[in-house]
Amino acid sequence: SLSKRLLIISNRLPTVIAQNEDGWSMKPGSGGLVTALAPIMRKNHGVWIGWPGCGDDAPLDKLLREFKDQQGYQLVPVPLSEEEVELYYRGFSNAAIWPMFHDLLGFCRFELPHWQAYNAVNQKFAAAIAEQAVPDDFVWVHDYQLMLVGAHLRDMGQQDRLAFFLHIPFPSPDLFRRLPWKIELIKGLLAYDQLGFQTLRDRRNFVQTATLLVPEVEVVSRKRHHTLLQWGDRIIKVGHYPISIDFTEFDQGARSHEVEDAAWYLHENLRGRQLVLGVDRLDYTKGIPERFLAFERALEKYPELIGRISLLQVVVPSRTLVPDYANLKEQLDQLAGRINARFGKPEWLPILYVFRCLERVQLLARYRTSEIALITPLRDGMNLVAKEYCASSVENNGVLILSEFAGAADQLGKHALLVNPYDTDGTADAIYQAFTMEPEERRQHMMHLRSDIRRNDVHRWLRRFVESADGDN
Ligand code: UDP
Repeated sequence: SLSKRLLIISNRLPTVIAQNEDGWSMKPGSGGLVTALAPIMRKNHGVWIGWPGCGDDAPLDKLLREFKDQQGYQLVPVPLSEEEVELYYRGFSNAAIWPMFHDLLGFCRFELPHWQAYNAVNQKFAAAIAEQAVPDDFVWVHDYQLMLVGAHLRDMGQQDRLAFFLHIPFPSPDLFRRLPWKIELIKGLLAYDQLGFQTLRDRRNFVQTATLLVPEVEVVSRKRHHTLLQWGDRIIKVGHYPISIDFTEFDQGARSHEVEDAAWYLHENLRGRQLVLGVDRLDYTKGIPERFLAFERALEKYPELIGRISLLQVVVPSRTLVPDYANLKEQLDQLAGRINARFGKPEWLPILYVFRCLERVQLLARYRTSEIALITPLRDGMNLVAKEYCASSVENNGVLILSEFAGAADQLGKHALLVNPYDTDGTADAIYQAFTMEPEERRQHMMHLRSDIRRNDVHRWLRRFVESADGDN
């Protein structure tokens, strides 16, 4: 399958569009998925289909032509109206599926117009694919915004193989049952031939949900890497493929002189202190308020930490127009203010909270120089920050504290301090344990983490997914 032409479909095109004095520009995004796919997209004349995410004022056709000339693969835009974005994206995708799939039913809004728009936009994506696809393409749809695309393609007569990968968790049957359109959605997913999840738990949740809600679905076989389901005359392969990062990119980047200098400078200002790092998009799934409270508890419980440890929390602005996200931002400002007022001294603040996106060098410098990473999502599909932190810890002296509810815990759990983010005291204890961990023990754990991530990088993830489409692995 690695020799087939790839058709990648995702909600957003993998580009960053910007306007400056020199006019408009469109560059590839920096995510691991784009990095991993680009070489095979170029080699096999791949096509990437998605919403460009820009307004009408950008000269889109020209930018897309230039992108193709420079990057060697083609982008096909699916334009969406402001109303479609509101109902399909901010509505159904982000206010129903996102919270439900992260086990946070309390944030869910189930509204018929949102569901209808989701359906219609998925159909629109399917039509864009049908226009591009030729027999023998490897058609691969990504993520929770596009779960019904496969079913719409079938309605349009598409017979070829269709693959789907879910980047976020898949909930238990008990949670999924709450969705008013559960049958339509699960049947929609069953229209694909190959379904990929992040973890074994997600894969099991899907298999259980599908067999519960669609009684004609049968489990044909269960192997280590996949389960085969039969529905009517179709066989559906359900596997788990934990996504990863480009290890070398972070490892090399963190060793660069620029990053070394920036890391030295950071540390110079924090002499004799350990830095605990948190890096998250603004999102209620990330457990940031819970983390602030656990950090406060650690200061209460272990007064020797006072003045000797700081939590550097980077929050990348995201979805700030949505009320739930604006509330979260407010809550973080208040918590950080209160905790800093309670414990802070003129020469030391417990929480250093920054609300912005960091430059690459600054991000790598923080990864490289922070003695502890505190990554405590309430639920997360994978959590790439955990992997990036380890790949950038080139001095082997970082300690990873990781939520047991992050997908990454499956792989990294053995050499991280696993915590339950709902357990304030347990998380506080882990902070203290990390703070007091001896250099040799840190080194041992970090070396294991790094070698695991080096082996299981995003290139391996891509090969495993694409090859498992026709193989037995
Ligand atoms: N990140 C970024 N800018 C920053 C800080 C982080 O682009 O200032 C990136 C980070 O390198 C990582 C991604 O944001 O690749 C977050 O991915 P993750 O899987 O941890 O969480 P998600 O945001 O996808 O839920």
